Amino acid sequence: MANNKTSHSGYSSCADDDCCQENCDTDQEIISSMSEAVYTMLEGIGENPEREGLKKTPERVARSMRFLTKGYLEDPEEMLKKAVFTESYDEMVLVKEIELFSMCEHHMLPFFGKAHVAYIPDGKIVGLSKLGRVVDVYARRLQVQERLTQQIRDAIQNVLNPRGVGVVIEAKHMCMVMRGVEKQNSITTTSAMSGEFLSSQSTRSEFLRLIGL
Ligand SMILES: [Zn+2]
Repeated sequence: MANNKTSHSGYSSCADDDCCQENCDTDQEIISSMSEAVYTMLEGIGENPEREGLKKTPERVARSMRFLTKGYLEDPEEMLKKAVFTESYDEMVLVKEIELFSMCEHHMLPFFGKAHVAYIPDGKIVGLSKLGRVVDVYARRLQVQERLTQQIRDAIQNVLNPRGVGVVIEAKHMCMVMRGVEKQNSITTTSAMSGEFLSSQSTRSEFLRLIGL
């Protein structure tokens, strides 16, 4: 397997801060062994990994897989803590329709859709973009939608200790769409709530109404 330490083509985040820059040698070793595994898979499905179109596929797949799972390299709670502010605002904060791309841990196939994240502050708020980022960090790991939903809720709950958190995810799973004949349009909805989103019917209803459910 080619071991070109200067080649980063295909790893689109490599130029920015999320990357492996400090660990590029280690990263190269991981890419090499992952590439070998992809090579074996290509043989396994009856392909010829040496033909022109597939020559660079093992390394491309390995780099793409590293990118799609880069959420393992980040601690979502630490990331949130960097943008916490004291504020007396005490109504619901909702960021809806956050684009979400993840991969199911059973088939390593994509699932994608939207996340809606809400909380009611109790003296502390967090930068709005961080709510999108926390979705991303957990989504860029192998997941089941149920756990992903809860992890987002728990991270916000743990860092802000708000009066409540509500998270709803609506997603399409390629492992259902591509493998099932009559399931092309099915959308899976999961929710995770805490505090007033659980104890107050009106809070929960307001949240669900605002996200159109
Ligand atoms: Zn699956």
